[in-house]
Amino acid sequence: MKLAMIGFGQAGGKIVDKFLEYDDRTGSGIVRSAVAVNTAKADLMGLDRIPQENRVLIGQSRVKGHGVGADNELGAEIAEEDIDEVQGAIDAIPVHEVDAFLIVAGMGGGTGSGGAPVLAKHLKRIYTEPVYGLGVLPGSDEGGIYTLNAARSFQTFVREVDNLMVFDNDSWRQSGESVESGYAEINDEIVRRFGILFGAGEINQGDEVAESVVDSSEIINTLSGGGVSTVGYAREEVDKTGSDDGGLLSRFTGGDEPEIDTAHTTNRITSLVRKAALGRLTLPCEIEGSERALLVLSGPPQHLNRKGIERGRKWLEEQTGSMEVRGGDYPVPESNFVASVILLAGVSNVPRIKELQQVAIEAQDNIEDIRSESEENLESLVEDDEDELEPLF
Ligand code: GDP
Repeated sequence: MKLAMIGFGQAGGKIVDKFLEYDDRTGSGIVRSAVAVNTAKADLMGLDRIPQENRVLIGQSRVKGHGVGADNELGAEIAEEDIDEVQGAIDAIPVHEVDAFLIVAGMGGGTGSGGAPVLAKHLKRIYTEPVYGLGVLPGSDEGGIYTLNAARSFQTFVREVDNLMVFDNDSWRQSGESVESGYAEINDEIVRRFGILFGAGEINQGDEVAESVVDSSEIINTLSGGGVSTVGYAREEVDKTGSDDGGLLSRFTGGDEPEIDTAHTTNRITSLVRKAALGRLTLPCEIEGSERALLVLSGPPQHLNRKGIERGRKWLEEQTGSMEVRGGDYPVPESNFVASVILLAGVSNVPRIKELQQVAIEAQDNIEDIRSESEENLESLVEDDEDELEPLF
């Protein structure tokens, strides 16, 4: 499926940059246009692939290109004031060629946290194409203000987009790593999962032998209905020399390109589906109660089969309790892996969000206490005890 991607803030810009790299490397063709929006000039200059003319610096009169310093209310205000400048870059996108907009932002900071929901609201007013969000939650070690920003942005962003796909940095950070190298790995993980998901809808029926190719309308239908989504992933390396698939040769000698349906291929697929659903999700949650799901199996076509996908789909129906579980292939002949990607849409049992909100409320109370104390403290410092001194004016 073809997307117009807009990275808002530093994390958003870096992740969209990574999607462009992924597109170049794999030829998946999911990024039709890429735009970066920021209040910090240095962050825009640090990007590698987003074209210069698609990098929009907003809020220059307010913050002089220095960013909003994790103040997401200011981020939202600036986005509203300068929405015409953002629209200027979006005007250059051939919107009739895109299936949807994807706004990417870290929700703990200021620019993306405040600006992404503002842009979503604006785009939804103007275009009929779906507007999706990809929101990144901060690590719990980042501190109260980041948690508070994320909790407030999350509420607003979900309301303004057609679906909010969430990635939780907290479940993915690894101890002992520098923040930067940690983010590089995390961003690879984000792009791999969402790259396969959106890339699946970019294969045209008939391109490959696979018969049940995922179509972009299936991705759109799974995401429609709003709410919050999470993505699971698992993969296994396959032996492409032929000893592993038990029937590859027949494909070349048989003429009719029969679907290879070995028990091994089917079993591998069903176990990959389970691993993806029960392993680490981009936003950890209970999968039971998910409203809709989409299962994508990618890999060399001779290692994919209908039976495996059908079994995986049935299993997902049982586990989620949803009757709306779609599934299909994403044939990638040159790949050495069979991978399973599962999009769970409309999830509602997410302890991490409840915890985030709790910490955010505590941080909010704390900030208010400190502010009122600080007024008192300043007053008692500045005023003389007996009130004998008069200010100048
Ligand atoms: P902004 O520029 O004001 O929107 O703020 P940033 O995007 O710099 O940071 C917002 C949040 O995004 C941080 O609190 C981090 O949790 C997260 N973050 C920053 N950079 C990255 C990154 O490269 N990858 C990921 N996954 N998260 C990031």
